[in-house]
Amino acid sequence: MKTVTVNIVTPDGSVYDSEVTMVIAKTTSGEIGVLAGHIPMVAPLTIGSVKLKKADGTTDVAAVSGGFIEVRPEKISILAPSAEVASSIDIARAKEALARAEGRLQKKQDDIDFTRAELSLKRAMNRINVHEGNI
Ligand code: ATP
Repeated sequence: MKTVTVNIVTPDGSVYDSEVTMVIAKTTSGEIGVLAGHIPMVAPLTIGSVKLKKADGTTDVAAVSGGFIEVRPEKISILAPSAEVASSIDIARAKEALARAEGRLQKKQDDIDFTRAELSLKRAMNRINVHEGNI
């Protein structure tokens, strides 16, 4: 089966660089599955999981906090404000972030705090889901 190089890049550097047969990502208009040789495309991503299917039958999973997927026939780049592969997620930290965000959402001081807390909650829940394999 044909493979394509996938690179997941954040402002801190590359967090994933591997050959895969298929990428499944969550764009703002829905989930997409991209195979090697796909026509060029750019799409914004939501906070969510990215599944990376490999030629040996295994699947890597990463949590991404938005950003973009750029598809070219020979390379797929995911550019995200933050991203972690499942094995590098600190579950205790994500649970603490979730509890903090829930506390802030209950106070509801103003719209800015609310939006920030909501995004923080989504990032934390995404990390927990990816770590636990609920994707
Ligand atoms: P926190 O409040 O715990 O910092 P956050 O959602 O505000 O969470 P981000 O701003 O998305 O964090 O990320 C900041 C940096 O910390 C990034 O490099 C990100 O990959 C890393 N990071 C955040 N949470 C975790 C986690 N639970 N496990 C591993 N790395 C994490």
